[in-house]
Amino acid sequence: MNELFDIGVNLTNKSLMRDLEGIMQRALDAGVTGMAVTGTSIESSQQAIELCRSYPGRLVSTCGVHPHHASEWDADSAAQIEALAADERVRAIGETGLDFNRNYSPPAAQEFAFESQLELAASLEMPLFCHQRDAHRRFVEMLTAFRHCLGPIVVHCFTDNREALTDYLDLDCHIGITGWICDERRGLELQQLVAEIPGERLLLETDAPYLLPRDLEPKPSSRVNEPAFLPHILARVAHHRQQSVDELAASCLENSRRFFGL
Ligand SMILES: [Zn+2]
Repeated sequence: MNELFDIGVNLTNKSLMRDLEGIMQRALDAGVTGMAVTGTSIESSQQAIELCRSYPGRLVSTCGVHPHHASEWDADSAAQIEALAADERVRAIGETGLDFNRNYSPPAAQEFAFESQLELAASLEMPLFCHQRDAHRRFVEMLTAFRHCLGPIVVHCFTDNREALTDYLDLDCHIGITGWICDERRGLELQQLVAEIPGERLLLETDAPYLLPRDLEPKPSSRVNEPAFLPHILARVAHHRQQSVDELAASCLENSRRFFGL
């Protein structure tokens, strides 16, 4: 069994919290010894730190405001994130970025919150955990403007095209791959592109409870994705890279440790 680290778990989500001990045990049984809990709002970032306290050595967290929550950004948000990020369990700023797919928050609010968090990651010298959907052009513009003063960046849940991948690699970003690659309809392009990601820039994640791999057998009756399914994603990524599962697991684990300073 390969040891793995899941870089993106929305562990504060209700569908995972209701069976937290089971989720954590099944992850361990599957070799997923560590994970980064994604903070998506001030409140969930606080909860993420609490969860890290309950599972020392197994959990770290990110701290930030997701583009969906960008309209909640106010004059205190930057100071609140900075205070939370002082906790040693917080290893990255985010989830932040732009999502013009649903525009749960207006684009202008998303850009303001993103820029504020770019500034925070730069001034705190912390890695950046990014989300981008249907906003590639503007996202790259903003990221490029800050690249010189930022450390490691991951564009998590990459589902975009070759042009976007090239832009991210040119900015020396890490690329987070989820079970999207297991989707026999939507994942076809990603199945081609995953072989083009340099080994030292590839990270694995479930994005649980979202994105249950469509080819998982048997599927859980709950339809809830969880970190225990990361080995399944690993196997699919290895297949499409024509790389050995063991070799890919080892390099992704090493990349995760380096990225989050573990
Ligand atoms: Zn995301």
